[in-house]
Parts: sequence; structure tokens; C-alpha cells
Amino acid sequence: MAKGILKFNSDKCKGCGLCVKFCPKHILGLDTEEVNALGYHPVGLLEPDSCVGCATCAIMCPDGVISVYTE
Ligand code: SF4
Ligand code: SF4
Repeated sequence: MAKGILKFNSDKCKGCGLCVKFCPKHILGLDTEEVNALGYHPVGLLEPDSCVGCATCAIMCPDGVISVYTE
């Protein structure tokens, strides 16, 4: 199974949670400890080893915050 590597442009995230909702592995979450340049809690990857690189999160994001690479 492919392993995904995610890069976040965190300062563009508006914390809408769409990527969190649609990740089939349920491994994304809003980081309530952080506040980004827009004043939102940005999304983060909770379990990096479980990401399969499907890119659903990147497709769902309306702001192009997430880039997905596979290895
Ligand atoms: S690439 Fe797929 S498995 Fe990985 S965080 Fe995004 S939606 Fe979840
Ligand atoms: S990364 Fe995109 S889809 Fe996910 S919470 Fe941020 S703005 Fe919404």
C-alpha cells in the first residue's frame, strides 16, 4: 500500500473541516493549539504513518491547502 506524505500551506487553511470529514482513514484534525494567519485552527495530520496518499483531502479542500505526495 502506498504511503502518503502531506504538505500543508497552513496559513491558508480556514478550518472548515471538509478534509477532516472526507479522509477515509480519519487521520486529519484541526489543531486547536495553533492559530494561523487567518485566525483559524489549521488542519494537521494526526497519524502520518496511516496516510495512504489517496489525495481525497487535497481534492476536497476549497483553498488548495494540502499537497499530497506518495512514496
Ligand atoms: S491523502 Fe487520503 S488518507 Fe492521507 S490524509 Fe488525505 S484523505 Fe486521508
Ligand atoms: S485544509 Fe482545506 S478543507 Fe481542510 S480544514 Fe483547511 S481549508 Fe478546510
